[in-house]
Amino acid sequence: MSELSERFETYESGDKQVAEKIRCDACPVMCYIADGRTGACDRYGNIGGRIVRMDPLTILDHSAETGGSVVPFVAEGENWNGELVNAGRRFITAIGAGTTYPDYKPAPFIVSQEVEGVDLVTVVTEGIFSYCGVKVKIDTDRHLGPETAMVRAQGEAIGHVTTGEYGSQMLSLGGVHHLTGGSKPEGRATCDAMLNLCNKKPVELAIDGGANVIVEAGKPPIIDGKLERRMRVGCGSATIGMFATQWRGLVDEVVVVDDHITGVVSEHQAGKVLDWQDTGIKIVGRRSTPGRYFKVSEPGLGWGGTTISDPLSILGEWNPKKGARPGLSMLMVSTTGEQFAYYELDDNLKPVEKPFPDRLAKSVRLIEENCEPALCTVLFVGGAGGSLRAGVTENPVNLTRSVHRLQTYVTVGGAPVYIWPGGGITLMVDVTRVPDNAFGYVPTPALVAPIEFTMRRDAYIQLGGHEKEIRSVADIVSHGGEYLNPRQSSAASSGNPWPPLAQLHTSGSMLR
Ligand code: SF4
Repeated sequence: MSELSERFETYESGDKQVAEKIRCDACPVMCYIADGRTGACDRYGNIGGRIVRMDPLTILDHSAETGGSVVPFVAEGENWNGELVNAGRRFITAIGAGTTYPDYKPAPFIVSQEVEGVDLVTVVTEGIFSYCGVKVKIDTDRHLGPETAMVRAQGEAIGHVTTGEYGSQMLSLGGVHHLTGGSKPEGRATCDAMLNLCNKKPVELAIDGGANVIVEAGKPPIIDGKLERRMRVGCGSATIGMFATQWRGLVDEVVVVDDHITGVVSEHQAGKVLDWQDTGIKIVGRRSTPGRYFKVSEPGLGWGGTTISDPLSILGEWNPKKGARPGLSMLMVSTTGEQFAYYELDDNLKPVEKPFPDRLAKSVRLIEENCEPALCTVLFVGGAGGSLRAGVTENPVNLTRSVHRLQTYVTVGGAPVYIWPGGGITLMVDVTRVPDNAFGYVPTPALVAPIEFTMRRDAYIQLGGHEKEIRSVADIVSHGGEYLNPRQSSAASSGNPWPPLAQLHTSGSMLR
């Protein structure tokens, strides 16, 4: 049983009120917590009769990222007068901020700071996302499983294989149906896998009818125990297009083996414009356009994402009337350049493997050099269009409209997000841009993610914001908030822009 599953057990068996326990109301579970203990999610505890957020509030220091002086860690209660030095360079994230679930009261922190003469307000809360999922991109040619195949963690269904992209296999994990619509073990396993993926930890996934893959954000995938090193340079046809010139005059035929589009240089448009001669080759597969073949094999873990280990298995009889002749030379190579072989036709027009010639080594190396490192990418997708908006404004739809008008800049732990067009606030964020261990969970089950909304102060007032709750950065650093946790300063990632220029320079007319 995973650590998180044990926590779920605690929650389900221990929800009995005891006189000396106090109640946490930061999520619908409403744990009663004894003194010195933490609740079911470990994020809140009872310290001396007060509910305390157990992790520190994280404040990102953007001066560190640009080479400026780093303000030392600010201990609780210590006065901080760095506003002059750090003006606009500190960002209060929602990591450790706590939640004001169910948002009948303002968000835990509503922060004001002047940046380049503009008064910005950032509303900070840890959102509870019942509607959330994870999109995983795995850079590999290898066949992980058929589209729509179930993806499992700890034996439970947590998502499915979705449409593959160029050089990558894609998984769609989580979502409300797996979190809440199935059995309790399914919901727990889904929450557990998503939490670990979002916190950049490795998760082992098993695909029905396919491979076992270990996914870790920003790291190469491990497929059936084998570390994937390279992403393909392109499909077989694209590889022919890119390298046909390099092969001209060095070899009579080139076949780039690919599960999707196998390329044959003598027939391909790129070969034709270079005046490549016919070779009488026959590919066993479905011809699409000249020199491009589909389905030369079944998808698998072999050459170019096929099942084959012997590339000759995709060739038919050579035709002497169309150019086949003894001694004709042929290079066969995969889309990553990891597999390659050299052949010459014998007197019976059968290809015979020969030692790989030096003259072709450079072109194979070039394919390898042009392959990018294979990585796993994990995007958290969450719907922030629900009740948490009420912690920002008294009129929640105003926040949605403001986000879509780009008046409000949305971040997750300081990382920029992509907002889907259309209704609601459906956001996607690359978890590698979010500080470590920023995500949490509650056993309902749901994921907890930091979220910050930044806009000009005048825009905030116009959309019905909680003006009386606005506090300065210095006040928050010095005194913290209702959950009594300490503050910690952390260098901001150089890839996460702050301040948001669009909000700084939004004209007054756009605010109406
Ligand atoms: S699960 Fe966590 S947030 Fe929810 S009530 Fe319990 S301690 Fe509070």
